[in-house]
Amino acid sequence: MDRVYNFSAGPAQLPLSVLEKAQKEFLSFEQSGMSVMELSHRSKLFETILEQTEQLLREVMEIPDNYKVLFVQGGASLQFSMVPLNLLVKGGHAYYVHTGSWSKKALNEAKKVGKTQVLASSEDQDFTYIPTIDVSILDENTKYVHITTNNTIEGTKFTDIPNTGEVPLVADMSSNILSEQIDVSKFGIIYAGAQKNLGIAGLTIVIIREDLIGHAPSDLPTMLNYSTYANNRSLYNTPPTFAIYMTKLVLEWLKEQGGVKQIEQQNREKASLLYNYIDESHMFFSKVKREDRSLMNIPFLTKSDELNEIFIKEAANVGLVTLKGHRSVGGMRASLYNAMPIEGVKALVQFMQEFENKNG
Ligand code: PMP
Repeated sequence: MDRVYNFSAGPAQLPLSVLEKAQKEFLSFEQSGMSVMELSHRSKLFETILEQTEQLLREVMEIPDNYKVLFVQGGASLQFSMVPLNLLVKGGHAYYVHTGSWSKKALNEAKKVGKTQVLASSEDQDFTYIPTIDVSILDENTKYVHITTNNTIEGTKFTDIPNTGEVPLVADMSSNILSEQIDVSKFGIIYAGAQKNLGIAGLTIVIIREDLIGHAPSDLPTMLNYSTYANNRSLYNTPPTFAIYMTKLVLEWLKEQGGVKQIEQQNREKASLLYNYIDESHMFFSKVKREDRSLMNIPFLTKSDELNEIFIKEAANVGLVTLKGHRSVGGMRASLYNAMPIEGVKALVQFMQEFENKNG
């Protein structure tokens, strides 16, 4: 089989065993004579898939009972709007920590809804670090603080989650959910698009503390209100059924791997292999501050755009694909999500060594 190592930032590589299971069940799911794609979302079979997916997520993330898990469409990008539409109400304001392209988009959407302020920013150094946050300026009118726990494009991540006390902390965890252990109780809302560590595009997971549901203005369109999803077990309308099923398979796979604790260890090992090589290399370098380096998305460069291009092309020729960096930062980026096996990282490092020997 000619599968490649796919270093895409998302949609991203899935575990092979997950794809094989989906393939096996594709034409007839549990003797129903139907594909999951053909099952009614009101059928017992689908309801079971939905319940199991939620239970698995609760189990692997140790989600406390006072949090709801919502299955939403519209990507993490819709959450940029839904968060302020549901929380930034009645004259309050929200603080955003500005750490890159995605936090900018989140902030821009919130600005359309209400009053926002930047709590801290790393724009002064091209988002190559995570800024220090001063929580002492938060007041009783602060409706929430928004952070992007992992910056997919810039390659940084929060190692210490800020303690915002009574003020709810809202986190875009799109690119590092399930990659390392986190304490859900530190957050008011966690949201993530599924197409990186959770499955496929089309599904967004929202984990929300119950007391944050039900504050939206009554004229907010139904589908934008968290209550709609919470009160109808995400079945108010047709949810993305196949995407939910794929998340179930990914979570089962994750459990088989030993859960998030085990995956975190593997992720640390994988990222270290690549960072160690980059640090030793005379050709490749990283601009990101060491302490703030992401485990999931690793941007790196050579000194010339031309050499970067040759690298990306030659890597693709040997089955190491989608290594082009985001256009805003250039160079290369290797995304090492949970499903990237260590063999893929070893193959990449070996290729980088050979490339450096040949062109250095
Ligand atoms: N936030 C982050 C951190 C992301 O990485 C992405 C997607 N790459 C998004 C938001 C946007 O997600 P979506 O495409 O699901 O709207």
